Amino acid sequence: MGENSKIEWTHHTFNTWWGCVKVSPACDNCYAESLSKRFGDHWGPKAEYRTFSDKHWNEPLRWNRAAEKAGERHRVFCASMADVFDNRAPEGARERLWALIRQTPHLDWLLLTKRPQNIAEMLPEDWGDGYPNVWLGVTVENQKEADRRIPILLQTRAVVHFLSCEPLLGPVDLNCIEPIYNGSGEMTSFTRALPDPSAPIDKHYIHWVIVGGESGPGARPMHPDWARSLRNQCRAAGVAFHFKQHGDWVSYDQIGANGWDFTHEHDGKRYGVISQGDFGRMERLLGGQAFETRYPWDDQTNPCMVRVGKKNAGRLLDGVEWNEVPG
Ligand code: SF4
Repeated sequence: MGENSKIEWTHHTFNTWWGCVKVSPACDNCYAESLSKRFGDHWGPKAEYRTFSDKHWNEPLRWNRAAEKAGERHRVFCASMADVFDNRAPEGARERLWALIRQTPHLDWLLLTKRPQNIAEMLPEDWGDGYPNVWLGVTVENQKEADRRIPILLQTRAVVHFLSCEPLLGPVDLNCIEPIYNGSGEMTSFTRALPDPSAPIDKHYIHWVIVGGESGPGARPMHPDWARSLRNQCRAAGVAFHFKQHGDWVSYDQIGANGWDFTHEHDGKRYGVISQGDFGRMERLLGGQAFETRYPWDDQTNPCMVRVGKKNAGRLLDGVEWNEVPG
């Protein structure tokens, strides 16, 4: 996966522009901001966003032809360096995106936002029940954002609704989402984010959940129980689940180790080496090396997390790789 994208769940990434303003805890360590700094200052309420030439905008036309030739549908994540529903979008850029989407019927466009409150007013006039090749998603990093963003997302019809729970910063219960009522007291959004498993999945619900931990400078650990809970909720509702990664931090049990042996303390951080476990590859890779370790949860309970880096931490959740996509 990922012809020109390092993201596992997409074939391509496309950016309408570069630039954004931080809006929630998931943005605290925004990788896009650090990456864009090499090309100028494009982040913040006063920054000028970076725009692109026709050559860049023509790329998806080529991807569309390739997908058609292959007889496949290819997914395009839009945008990794911006938010499509940002009210500071460069003039005309969003309209150009809608035109491009209409010209590329063999591509499924995944529009992910942290600003679902802007979706309705920024969609094109001919949106109807949703363009057949647009999947709409919101970032959900904790329960507060789930409660805030999911009901708004579900107010807009789309062929696929999805959640990107990355970086996952806390537990999320998708079955306790509050409905939205209009001024007349009518419910305009839904009481459940996930479908009743006995009913067919339709446009009212979430169809896909992507979960991942954080990586990079300042990465915050993801408790494996938070990911397990979302996996279990999706399994129970028949919703596609994709586990992208643990992130820089992983619990010892997830890499098959039994624990760690304290080696030293430095700059207020505790370091340890991985002790006996069942996961041969990890022991060969990581055994004998010292890694930062900590109990990051308020109650100082298990599991202890170890910072082995995103690549070493891998993407197995309880030994299973989850790559489901809505079918
Ligand atoms: S919305 Fe996305 S791109 Fe914008 S600041 Fe937040 S993490 Fe970065």
